[in-house]
Amino acid sequence: MARYVDNKCKLCRREGMKLFLKGQRCFTDKCALSRRDYPPGVHAQRRSKVSDYGLHHREKQKLKRIYGILERQFRCYIKEAERTPGNTGVTLLALLERRLDNVVLASGFALSRNHARQMINHGHFRVNNRRVDIASYTVRPGDKVAARPNPKTKKMVSEAVEVNKSQVVPDWLSVKGELLETEVMAMPRRDHVPHPIQEQLIIELTSK
Ligand code: SF4
Repeated sequence: MARYVDNKCKLCRREGMKLFLKGQRCFTDKCALSRRDYPPGVHAQRRSKVSDYGLHHREKQKLKRIYGILERQFRCYIKEAERTPGNTGVTLLALLERRLDNVVLASGFALSRNHARQMINHGHFRVNNRRVDIASYTVRPGDKVAARPNPKTKKMVSEAVEVNKSQVVPDWLSVKGELLETEVMAMPRRDHVPHPIQEQLIIELTSK
């Protein structure tokens, strides 16, 4: 699957906010946004007022960039959210929160979303005792996500747990740190989504 490989800090600078794409570095003064608090590009600082479409578009781009997904996959999530009864925007956010890479990151088992994705792709995680190497796998309540019981995986995940020990785990996940396992207790609610997203703008844009 295609993925974004360019400089990630440019994405934060483009959105004008921290998207926390580089793990611990984002919390230090090495963060590019703290040094260059303007959009990337030669003429970016001269850009004029943002249009109504621009506002909606930026919100969509922000969401995609936070969760590391590209347009095609995003459209699949939109379609699924539209098919599901309930508030489409909230359903969309819940679907993204339930991605396996997000669960691994939110549980503190990885240093960044990319790290989570790489470990999953390399087969370091199991869901209900079965190896799952698809980062976009959607978890359900009752699922148990665990690190593979081999020394290399344990070392890698334990190191991440140690780094993330002050991280607050959302209460729809129940983490057993010593077992390097997390259980999905419930569907994520809107207030579990930690990102400043105005989902109604995105739905207004995609439903046009
Ligand atoms: Fe964004 Fe992190 Fe880069 Fe800062 S260090 S610009 S928060 S990815």
